[in-house]
Amino acid sequence: MSDKFTNVWTIAEAFEGKLKPVSFELLARGRSLADACGEQLVSVLIGAKVGDAELNSLISHGADLVISVQDPALEAFIVETYSNVLLDLVEQRKPNIILAAATNNGRTLMPHAAMRLHTGLTADCTDLQIDLATGDLLQTRPAIGGNILATIKTPNHRPQMATVRPRSTQPLPEDPSRVGKIEQVQLKPELLDKRVMRLSFKAEAADESNLQDSDVIVAGGRGMKKADNFVQLHDLARLLGGKVGASRDAVDRGWARYPQQIGLSGKTVLPKLYIAMGISGAIQHLAGMKTSETIVAVNTDPNAAIFQVADFGIVGDAFQVLPELISRLEERKS
Ligand SMILES: Cc1cc2nc3c(=O)[nH]c(=O)nc-3n(C[C@H](O)[C@H](O)[C@H](O)COP(=O)(O)OP(=O)(O)OC[C@H]3O[C@@H](n4cnc5c(N)ncnc54)[C@H](O)[C@@H]3O)c2cc1C
Repeated sequence: MSDKFTNVWTIAEAFEGKLKPVSFELLARGRSLADACGEQLVSVLIGAKVGDAELNSLISHGADLVISVQDPALEAFIVETYSNVLLDLVEQRKPNIILAAATNNGRTLMPHAAMRLHTGLTADCTDLQIDLATGDLLQTRPAIGGNILATIKTPNHRPQMATVRPRSTQPLPEDPSRVGKIEQVQLKPELLDKRVMRLSFKAEAADESNLQDSDVIVAGGRGMKKADNFVQLHDLARLLGGKVGASRDAVDRGWARYPQQIGLSGKTVLPKLYIAMGISGAIQHLAGMKTSETIVAVNTDPNAAIFQVADFGIVGDAFQVLPELISRLEERKS
């Protein structure tokens, strides 16, 4: 079966004409898979306003071919239309593997497309390898609240589809000498789903947007006691150049908003520094943050599970530690 389906595709993402970093991270994953299969690496961009320099940067970061389907009608991400465009390309060109980012767009587009292609999809992969004996993609992801790693295959269907967590891969170094091809594909009007249109666009509040892109996250849980106390988390995050996240308990209580929720049913984050204030460390929370580079936990309970994953643990009251941290950082800054 795999003979008919060749090449590894990655789905690039852009916003207002600029490629998102995850587009390059996916190319690093895709490059090693394409090399292992002896196939081409193709970056597929569906969108609008992305110029040649940006498209070329996909090649200098590992793509052999860029398929660009751009049209003003594709500026807003509308899953029905994007899925129509992707399916049309897949049906004509039959890729072996399709990788997308586990972002809002990727997590919406890929299940929609996989269902219509009657193939499997593994979401949120942390590792991808090729089984050299069969050519199957080995798709590894955390399961059961992050307690085990499951490796999943799609032996009977093609393409093999997976999403990859943003910031789980270093992009390849840029190589301007790499040679590749850019193919502009005209949008077929019949692929536009006219039932859905974007009427307006409202950006998330600055503290909630791009939580996954932040190098520093200060997260609060039920131990913060009330919504007003999150102000101190915002002060600390500002001093560290970071963003504020939250446990599900804090979100359920209305102290933070859902886009800030970290964990199994929220976002997966991989910051350089994760500070957990008054968070117990339930497995569902750990599933979204335990691979952070450095974890600092502050909790009054010395037996809190969060200390098992923390690099630095402070057994103490968040309301003593927070003002102290904030004033030391302010001193340093001044
Ligand atoms: C299907 C499912 C999905 C879920 N998804 C998520 C998810 O995505 N994200 C998530 O977070 N949870 C998720 N949960 C919920 C999870 O099981 C926990 O209930 C939740 O993480 C607890 O939040 P918490 O740590 O803020 O609260 P608690 O568990 O109540 O912990 C509060 C902590 O604060 C400490 N504390 C109290 N006072 C202070 C103080 N003054 N200073 C310092 N520390 C103090 C306490 O010792 C305690 O450890 C999910 C659960 C299920 C069943």
